[in-house]
Amino acid sequence: MHLTRSLSCLPLAFVITLSARAQGAASDARLAALKTEAMRDIDARAQFTQQFVDQVFSFGELGFQEFETSKYIVGILKQNGFTVREGVAGIPTAWVATWGSGKPVIALGSDLDGIPQASQIPGVACHLPLVQGAPGHGEGHNSGQAVNITAALAIKNIMQREHMSGTLKIWPGVAEEQLGSKAYLVRDGVFKDVDVVLFSHVGSNLQTGWGASQGSGLVSVLYSFEGQAAHAAGAPWRGRSALDAVELMDVGWNFRREHLRLQTRSHYVIRNGGDQPNVVPPTASVWYYFRELDYKKIKELWAMGDSVAQGAAMMTGTKLASERVLGSAWPGHFNRPIAEDMTENIKLVGLPKWTAADQQFARAIQKEVKGDTTGLDTTVAKLEGDVPDSLNMGGGSDDIGDISWNAPTIVLLYPSNVPNLPGHHWADAIAMATPIAHKGATAGAKAQALTMLDILLKPALVDSAWSYFRNVQTKTVKYEPLMRPEDRPATELNTDILARYRPEMKKFYYDPKKYPTYLQQLGISYPTLRKADGSCAATPNTLQ
Ligand SMILES: [Zn+2]
Repeated sequence: MHLTRSLSCLPLAFVITLSARAQGAASDARLAALKTEAMRDIDARAQFTQQFVDQVFSFGELGFQEFETSKYIVGILKQNGFTVREGVAGIPTAWVATWGSGKPVIALGSDLDGIPQASQIPGVACHLPLVQGAPGHGEGHNSGQAVNITAALAIKNIMQREHMSGTLKIWPGVAEEQLGSKAYLVRDGVFKDVDVVLFSHVGSNLQTGWGASQGSGLVSVLYSFEGQAAHAAGAPWRGRSALDAVELMDVGWNFRREHLRLQTRSHYVIRNGGDQPNVVPPTASVWYYFRELDYKKIKELWAMGDSVAQGAAMMTGTKLASERVLGSAWPGHFNRPIAEDMTENIKLVGLPKWTAADQQFARAIQKEVKGDTTGLDTTVAKLEGDVPDSLNMGGGSDDIGDISWNAPTIVLLYPSNVPNLPGHHWADAIAMATPIAHKGATAGAKAQALTMLDILLKPALVDSAWSYFRNVQTKTVKYEPLMRPEDRPATELNTDILARYRPEMKKFYYDPKKYPTYLQQLGISYPTLRKADGSCAATPNTLQ
């Protein structure tokens, strides 16, 4: 009271400045306290995070077949009060889970799918498949939803208690390895009302970036040819080989490749090469990824592929029967203000405390695949800035790119895997259900949660995110989907592989009711290294 009276004597402008400052300091202190609380809460959820990571690891499902994974995650979200819409965009394993109300709307995404032939017993630093030939998490997509959902549950508690306005929207990257779903989620309108997208992806440090990222966009196309069957020895002149068309398309493309920009990348696999040698193949197909640095160049490359396919059909007297788009991805461009904010939070979180066992294990995997044996990172990586076209030599793609052109988006990399591994490989699965993955996911959840608090409590941050999005990022570049209006998600992909391996894989699904960790269920002592005689073996009860 006394204070108020004495303030009333001061000039009005000064009073306003003083009280705005006092309010600013009070809200900074409140935000700092909430951040401390969120980090503690996430530490307390470490077992939840670990079991989530282990459970999804044990499913090891490929793109569009993430049925067990999605059922498990949707169950957790429903139990925690989220409203879940399933089968989004015509994709059976896609869903959108929503909680809260009003602005801002924060969308949290991460991928779900594994890699073919990457089955691996975790915690063993040499190649030892759990199920020979089966898929597995040879990228680490088993960990990202655990990062996001751990963060969301911590923040949801705070939002409820503090009566904060805001909506949390959690969604999966289905079939990321096929670049198969995110452009369809965009087309379905999932990001229409979203203010900020925080995407998380497994990495080997805690890091984010802004601007154009190192890497490419792409279109993924299946070319199918039709010829005529005939007895390959009795009447070969009556046949027209669809396989010939595939082979000539590949030969033609490999010659053409020499005369493309160095930034261009393309690769293919033959999906159908006929049935047996004495039947001239009446059908054959080849699957291409065409990668370039922008929309226009990707379209040009795709048109070039089409002309080579048509030439191959003409040469062989076959028909180019269909051209199916199986996936697409815009090159990513990420939001500067949000990335800078996240980087400050990353400094607060820091890297996990690695044990001597973690480091020994990481070095053993690196040695196994002839990578640099630097062990796990111990200093936080710097914020990555914009990569200009002149320095971007292309590389991998992620369909988060499509989302990044529809709402301010960043990608948080978190340290759940080991550096210097080949990628898309069984070696990349080795650490993904060990303390390295678990601690990395907890660190990632903290960085996500602190940035969510900033977005919820600092409206100016959301304003500057949109100002960057509108006035810098999309000032001259406008999003147009790479897939055609008639294209549909390729949900049939990988059905055959899962039908073949799932019965065996099921025997190794993780049961957290019986075992605190998946390593304990498998009977693996951590870390298990190559034996002195050079053999790769685990304890006998692994190989039941
Ligand atoms: Zn990935």
